[in-house]
Amino acid sequence: MKTPFITLEQALTIRQTYPTPFHIYDERGIRDNARALKAAFAWNPGFKEYFAVKATPTPGILKLLGEEGCGVDCSSLTELMMSERCGFRGQDIMFSSNETPLEEFVMADKLGAVINLDDLTHVDCLKETLGRVPETVCCRFNPGGAFVLGKSDEGFQVMDNPGQAKYGMTRPQLAQAFTKLRELGTKHFGIHAFLASNTLSNEYYPALARILFQTAVEVAEETGCHVAFINLSGGVGIPYRPDQPANDIQVIGEEVRRAYEKILTPAGMDDVAIYTELGRFMLAPYGHLVTTAVHEKHIYKEYIGVDASAANLMRPAIYGAYHHITVLGKENAAQNHQYDVVGSLCENSDKFAIDRMLPKIDKGDVLVIHDTGAHGFSMGYNYNGKLRSAELLLKEDGSVELMRRAETPDDYFATLIW
Ligand SMILES: *Cc1c(COP(=O)(O)O)cnc(C)c1O
Repeated sequence: MKTPFITLEQALTIRQTYPTPFHIYDERGIRDNARALKAAFAWNPGFKEYFAVKATPTPGILKLLGEEGCGVDCSSLTELMMSERCGFRGQDIMFSSNETPLEEFVMADKLGAVINLDDLTHVDCLKETLGRVPETVCCRFNPGGAFVLGKSDEGFQVMDNPGQAKYGMTRPQLAQAFTKLRELGTKHFGIHAFLASNTLSNEYYPALARILFQTAVEVAEETGCHVAFINLSGGVGIPYRPDQPANDIQVIGEEVRRAYEKILTPAGMDDVAIYTELGRFMLAPYGHLVTTAVHEKHIYKEYIGVDASAANLMRPAIYGAYHHITVLGKENAAQNHQYDVVGSLCENSDKFAIDRMLPKIDKGDVLVIHDTGAHGFSMGYNYNGKLRSAELLLKEDGSVELMRRAETPDDYFATLIW
């Protein structure tokens, strides 16, 4: 069972000031979770989470995570600019991009960010663009093949296919990049890899860590380079469905520690810092898309039309992703009506739920669409001339703060030449 972090009374009050649809985030939940992550990796003195800005690029959120000791992981020029304006500086910024426009290397370097190179050829790009290479550089590794997690009740489970992914360097290229960078003046190195997305298994990070730790030991030996950190990147998932078990970050941290002590410590590499670049795990459960039922339609199926659309939350339309829905005030009512809950786009994929069993929904009911805190608002778009919604923060004291106002037609028209 998933419980919303706002009640019907709160939603109705908020709706008087900020009309639906809106995204709302739970400060308490975000802070508690960030602290749990930090505690799970407290055994590693250099540990740092670099929040993946692309998941929720909202200053109110970035500042809050900054207060919890997080850095930021940027993928583009505007994310770098936003991070700077939020007060992030130097090595509190990771720049993990790919097919990188050269001006973005310049910006990242100007901020003193750690640059994470996606390809061997980017060593030359960096040298030519900056006239030198930074003292600290990270390289993204792609081990190829299939990434298989062996520990599951159902047997072996293929999680993802790095061999089909556009990211990162091959193993020989990784050593070549290190050697070349060292010759050009780099002193400290990081290794990064992102092998599977939204994993629901405490085994993902430990399995990835074992691969990267072993790789670090070998590459350090081959090249003589100093590996200063290992970046486990993102990919720790959350249970979107109410019957899925959540990851246990304490267990994950412990298992990574065991791998560290087994592989890095005996190699004399016990000064290696662990970094993470989590997005979904940090924010997804602590965001709701709040929307009002505005129409009901009875044709071959039963439809509930809401005032949000795929322009506010794209995941169901593009991935068929499940997002749980709670009808506020009817939490305990019988779920005896089967609905498609749909938005107003002229696009039949604009469905938040298909054949979902819910309580009887009446016009005016307020629906919470769960787990929209990451890759929710940020994937939004303006199709059908739909305007982006507001983003609100439910503060720990129960008050509500506006972090981003809703777009107006003027915003939509602002780039047009008439
Ligand atoms: C998207 C992304 C992340 C965050 O991924 P989550 O699945 O949200 O944890 C981290 N690092 C990089 C390089 C990414 O592209």
